[in-house]
Amino acid sequence: MSINIWEDNWVRNGEAFCPLTAPYPTPLPTKVCELFCEGGRRWDGAILNSLFNPHLCSLICSTPISWTGCADKLIWRHSSSGVYSVNSGYLLASCLTKDHGGSLPSSSYNLPPTIWKLIWRLKVPPRVKHFLWRAIRNALATKENLFSRKCARNPLCDYCGTEVESIEHIFFRCEWTNEVWGNCGIFFPDRIRSIVSLKQWILSLHSAFGSSFSEKLGIIAQLCWAIWKQRNDRIFSNTHPDPIRLIRQALRVHGEFLAAAYSKANVPARTIEERNDQTWQRPPNDRWKFNCDGAYNPSDKSAAFAVLVRNSDGAVVDINHGRIKVSSALAAKAWAVRIAVAMAVAWGKKETIIESDCKVLVDLLQPDHANTNWTIQAIIDDIVSLSDNANFVFSWCNRKVNSCAHWIASNSRIGLLSFISPCNIPSKLCSLIRMDI
Ligand SMILES: [Zn+2]
Repeated sequence: MSINIWEDNWVRNGEAFCPLTAPYPTPLPTKVCELFCEGGRRWDGAILNSLFNPHLCSLICSTPISWTGCADKLIWRHSSSGVYSVNSGYLLASCLTKDHGGSLPSSSYNLPPTIWKLIWRLKVPPRVKHFLWRAIRNALATKENLFSRKCARNPLCDYCGTEVESIEHIFFRCEWTNEVWGNCGIFFPDRIRSIVSLKQWILSLHSAFGSSFSEKLGIIAQLCWAIWKQRNDRIFSNTHPDPIRLIRQALRVHGEFLAAAYSKANVPARTIEERNDQTWQRPPNDRWKFNCDGAYNPSDKSAAFAVLVRNSDGAVVDINHGRIKVSSALAAKAWAVRIAVAMAVAWGKKETIIESDCKVLVDLLQPDHANTNWTIQAIIDDIVSLSDNANFVFSWCNRKVNSCAHWIASNSRIGLLSFISPCNIPSKLCSLIRMDI
């Protein structure tokens, strides 16, 4: 009795329901029930033929009419019961995503419940969790969203003005965020700048990171929150973004939150040690060892860093590497140590051994060291500041002992390494790791 002929989707055509276009202006019947014969048990062929083409007439006539006059209702055509269920919604979303080559905007489908569960259990402050939830639901006041509600004059990014300010642009594609993701201590499977959907990216991280997904997503959420705050600060106080300071602060907040969560309060200073071992030694129980190295080629100025993290069983816990722009081998090696420290802080590892085969570098980290090296002073300052509240041991080792990190750095420098992770290690590196233990 209530369905409108011209406005509701009521004619079933195969799998879809379609609305109809009025053939000529009023007066026309408006309610579907006006197309019934007297008594309402059959379609009125004469009216149908006068309004619609034969194909539509036959579609309409194939729609059964209730004989008992049961009420009109909305149905969800993607489940056999006609009732919406989360599963059918998720299936539809997956199909739509495939149909569109995976480039749907972020609000068009939802994450599977298993991922939501992990998100709600993230070890981050509740406000960061809530913020991530809003970002995933595209419920932040981005200019794209404001513009679509006519609350902004244009949808463009205030920082760079080159793209629509979407969630993805703010976090990943706006130029200055590059440095945040490149230095945050997490090695990502895909190019950050190519992210088109936050949801899809989270899904792909879930499969790439495996068991370390939650830890890393916690850090990512913290960094997204920091980027968002930085953008708001800039609007209100016109400050310039400082990616490295942002990472430092975000990681410190994250580390403090984890430390409080685990309620372990030990605040010793960093220590330096020199080791004369001829082979790689496992770290003591409950500790991790981060082997760091950098590679640099002066002739083409290509450089890379590498960090390999192993636990007390000698098992690989994490790997990080990447090409960088530096001007010396020392800087590349320092870079690797800075990344290692950032990783340790992010993992909430307060007692950690950071091993490098660069004596000059480890010496520079001595708390009472008299000399400085201005070419890498900024990196040294970061390392010192990041390791402030932790019991990090910076250990200088023989080159032979650091062969795994060396291998990763040299291959990364010449562009031979793509995404590697603890569950995806190249066979050559596998054999080097096996030789260590
Ligand atoms: Zn921008």
